[in-house]
Amino acid sequence: MKLSLSTVSLLCSFLLMLSCGNGSGSGSGAETAAGDEEEGSPNVLLLIIDTLRADHLSCYGYHRETSSCIDSLAASGTRWKNCVAQAPWTPASVASIMSGLTVREHAVGRHSDGDHGLAPDMPVMSVLFSEDGYRTCGIFNVAHFTVLHGYARGFDHHTCNEMGDLPAEVSINEFLEWLQTSDREKPFLAVLHLFDPHHPYDPPDGYRNLYLADDTVTSTRWQISEDGTEVLHPEHLEHYLAWYDGEIRYLDDQLSLLFRNLREMGYGENTIVVLAADHGEEFLERGWVEHGHQYHQEMIHVPLIASGPGIPPGEVVEEYVGNFDILPTLAALCGIETEAVFSGVDLLGDETLEPRPIPSGRQMAIGRMLDGTPVCAVTFDGFKGVVISREETEEYFMFDLLADPGETVPLPADSNMVRMLDYYRSTPALYTPRPLRELEQSTTDALRDLGYF
Ligand SMILES: [Zn+2]
Repeated sequence: MKLSLSTVSLLCSFLLMLSCGNGSGSGSGAETAAGDEEEGSPNVLLLIIDTLRADHLSCYGYHRETSSCIDSLAASGTRWKNCVAQAPWTPASVASIMSGLTVREHAVGRHSDGDHGLAPDMPVMSVLFSEDGYRTCGIFNVAHFTVLHGYARGFDHHTCNEMGDLPAEVSINEFLEWLQTSDREKPFLAVLHLFDPHHPYDPPDGYRNLYLADDTVTSTRWQISEDGTEVLHPEHLEHYLAWYDGEIRYLDDQLSLLFRNLREMGYGENTIVVLAADHGEEFLERGWVEHGHQYHQEMIHVPLIASGPGIPPGEVVEEYVGNFDILPTLAALCGIETEAVFSGVDLLGDETLEPRPIPSGRQMAIGRMLDGTPVCAVTFDGFKGVVISREETEEYFMFDLLADPGETVPLPADSNMVRMLDYYRSTPALYTPRPLRELEQSTTDALRDLGYF
């Protein structure tokens, strides 16, 4: 059964309004509304949307109405306007969400001897919440999150659809089924990694022609030359943008149904919902497509929205924050006591958010652009510093993100930015990540199909 788009949008707004009580203020962590079945520690639903650019959501200023449900979530809670992903590709970025650490510290990603997964002794979100008495569910949608990658640890229920080809409704239904059958006496932590906006751009029926009626392109992903150096058929840009947006709209509608189900199951009042993304996507802004290659805003500016008990409603935060702040914030909201060291901070803590360097890197050492050139970036107080290492030279520059949001005019990096870049590049790894030499051939094939090699 499919609801019409307008019906779903209205339903979503209504349900989130309900979940925010009477709208007269934020709930505190200790409060639960009358009639709510849940009491005590709040539940946590963390939605990690793969490849979701912040600037393609209506609440972040996009010109298309892609996200009425997510917009309502933002209105009922807090939206961080300037959130930076710690990496422009999936494994390293999600590891920062799960650990509260920078890429250099958790060291997950590509190394000279291949890819590395989560270190077996690293405190991660699933373990911390499980040890605190939570029932835990992790549902992932691409082959970076298998048991071998270390992602089963701490989850009572863990699955990974290696091909990443299942639509959001499948993962959502799996989560709801788990919710019904697991121990209701315990609060839950659920991490849903949803893959719809990731290429190939292939929105379901009803969404494919939502933003582009005269659909004449048949391929669902960019065509790249055989030697990998050229994007073919750039004239297809508007088609891929329309399908990418259609995938977002489909996902948004599925979230509205998810929230309705949570409400009907009695989880509407005492559940913290966080919506995040691991990275963005390029659409020829620099002549290239997809993701993983660089550190411009289209790649690392991601949405961050939270709603629920303890989270101020209707707030928009301007300060620059990072995905590595998600775990410290949730741990504080839920009263998780841990000795774990985080580089991220509690975004809702008592202290005012001070400007601080928000680093991004592709792997432990440094990132690599498409041509193999190492690069890393630090975002600080409205500026982004970048250092590119070319053979014997190191090139430092920075962008004024407020005056030049498209990052078209590189400025000389000032001494403060150079110092922050060098500091980030020299910080040591805190953990030894898990080498993945023993990956199954099917897993390797799945990742290759998705362009990860
Ligand atoms: Zn990703």
